[in-house]
Amino acid sequence: MPDNQERFKNVLKQNGLKVTTQRISILEALESRPDKHLTAEEIYECVKENSPDIGLATVYRTIQLLAELNLIDKLNLGDGYVRYEIGHSGANEDSTHHHHHLICLNCGSVLTFQGDLLEALEERIQNALEFEVVDHEVKLFGYCKECREARIEKHNNTNC
Ligand SMILES: [Zn+2]
Ligand SMILES: [Zn+2]
Ligand SMILES: [Zn+2]
Repeated sequence: MPDNQERFKNVLKQNGLKVTTQRISILEALESRPDKHLTAEEIYECVKENSPDIGLATVYRTIQLLAELNLIDKLNLGDGYVRYEIGHSGANEDSTHHHHHLICLNCGSVLTFQGDLLEALEERIQNALEFEVVDHEVKLFGYCKECREARIEKHNNTNC
């Protein structure tokens, strides 16, 4: 994906960072898997394919650096892992907003929801409390389709 590479190069330069293969490949690993929410170890596994010389410590350090610059976002999805995804400053201009996370309480799977219906809420808060909202993070908890179907089935069986 040469387009992304160019974009990431510019983003790194704009933030005063040297363009290195490792930094680019970490950004690309996250960019190409927007729904995966990778842990540092998983990022390492992805990056290793193209850069076999990279070490886990370097990956950790690079992730910290990119997170400090908001090029990637740190996520806590309630499963005890720190996960990452492309952040606001690293994202495409036509996808300025990230997605929201739907977390299944039964199997722990994380679904994503594109689209943002929170502008009205933010405006109300802004007007009522004179609090300037610049960002939000939304986690919705519930049961995914598979788990719902399994629950309904179980319920039906116990009623027989
Ligand atoms: Zn996400
Ligand atoms: Zn589930
Ligand atoms: Zn949102």
